[in-house]
Amino acid sequence: MRRPRSKRLFTEYQQIKKYSESEISVENINLEGDLRVALIFPNTYDVAMSSLSFSYVWKLLNGLPKVRCERFVVENEFSKFYSLDSFTPLDEFKIWAFPIHFELDLINVFDFLKKRSVAISWEKRSDNDPIILFGGALTYHTPEMLFLVADVLIHGDLEEHLRSLKDVLVPQTRDKLLAHFSKLKGISVPPLNKLETEPLVAGDINTYPPVSPVISSRAQFSNKVLIEIERGCVWDCNFCELGASRKPARFLDLAILKDLLRIHKNVGLIASNVTDYPFLNEVLSVIEKNNVHFSVSSLRINKLRKRFLSVLHSQGQQTFTIAPEAATQRIRDVLKKGIKDDEIDSALFLGKEAGFSNVKMYFIYGIQEENEQDLVAIGDLVEKALKVGYKSVIASLNPLIPKKGTAFSTRTIQSLQDLRRKMTLIRKSMPRQAKVKFEPPRKAYLQYILNQADFSTAFEVLRLFERNENCRFSDVLSVFKH
Ligand code: SF4
Repeated sequence: MRRPRSKRLFTEYQQIKKYSESEISVENINLEGDLRVALIFPNTYDVAMSSLSFSYVWKLLNGLPKVRCERFVVENEFSKFYSLDSFTPLDEFKIWAFPIHFELDLINVFDFLKKRSVAISWEKRSDNDPIILFGGALTYHTPEMLFLVADVLIHGDLEEHLRSLKDVLVPQTRDKLLAHFSKLKGISVPPLNKLETEPLVAGDINTYPPVSPVISSRAQFSNKVLIEIERGCVWDCNFCELGASRKPARFLDLAILKDLLRIHKNVGLIASNVTDYPFLNEVLSVIEKNNVHFSVSSLRINKLRKRFLSVLHSQGQQTFTIAPEAATQRIRDVLKKGIKDDEIDSALFLGKEAGFSNVKMYFIYGIQEENEQDLVAIGDLVEKALKVGYKSVIASLNPLIPKKGTAFSTRTIQSLQDLRRKMTLIRKSMPRQAKVKFEPPRKAYLQYILNQADFSTAFEVLRLFERNENCRFSDVLSVFKH
């Protein structure tokens, strides 16, 4: 690829080169094949490379004989969009595939399509446009909005689709590609009026072990090889889509994991709860024996063990992160969190004993059953953590967002006014030394709307994004009725 002549494009090109230079290849990926597929993460490079699925899906797609898949990221200053893998401009790719894991990333997709002069709604696209394909976590219980935007939706785990995609992802016209996609199970093609609701779910995760084929110094787990050791979750929290519907939880075979830990000396273990992995003690032994440095994505309060936390801390992890979600048993029962007061106390002591001096605690508020005491108790629990001896206590608070696919899907999010009143109460209850971070209620509301809007509201929301240069939250709120 020749260097761009304009200063602006050259800066963009240089930025992509810089990202590419931050990477180390773990596995050789063959970029061969005549059908060019752009895998576009709808967020910044650092966020993209912190997600195992981005590089893993890239690897799986490049395993299909006729596909040449290259990675792209979406950043505000970009206009041409060059691939991370060969610096090829996006225009040269026939299929634009977006992994959609998070509702707010949809807004990035809308802005991105507008910037590239591609219609947001599939019904306004022409034969000359790329095929807009969606996959990812949001396709398990697809929000209606996605059916109005995507030309193709691959529902569920990509591994389960590979065999059928092999014959479809070959160079052919846009019309033929859509027609062939529409014959496949678990794939929606809205322009051909084929809407699926059942995702394909991989029976196990060992056929294609989910390991990142490339790592970056800019990822959240910097320069660590990410290994998914659990998919789904064994618990059933009422607010969580992962626990409510992706059953059973599937684990990476111990033998495969042991082999990986002998090869890679710097790893991030990814799971809904690393502490649910059934062979954690054996894994710790391999980690210690092979001097593996590891980090973990998340821990479950009532499954913590001192040995595990001590090894984690001895490797330099500074912050101990737990998710009580609520400070009273009554509200944890409403959430079906399955954690007792004394288990939270024990977890705080265990973390301190293991050597951690920082603790981060996640809470949910905005639950219709909660009262003033339940909210004030959050401050009391944070105070308790300070008394245990942590130097820094961070409380991260998110409003309850009832989502599709969860036991709370028929609930509505509390009004902005109620959420703000509750925020004030919680803030007042907090000890001065604590750091308190609230997710802005407007952001939570927007997620709720994007997740729950029915077809007619989704249609109106899309029109707003199509018409307005800078669509504001108040505009979206004005069309949302519940
Ligand atoms: S909140 Fe965590 S523990 Fe509960 S179901 Fe979801 S992933 Fe599992």
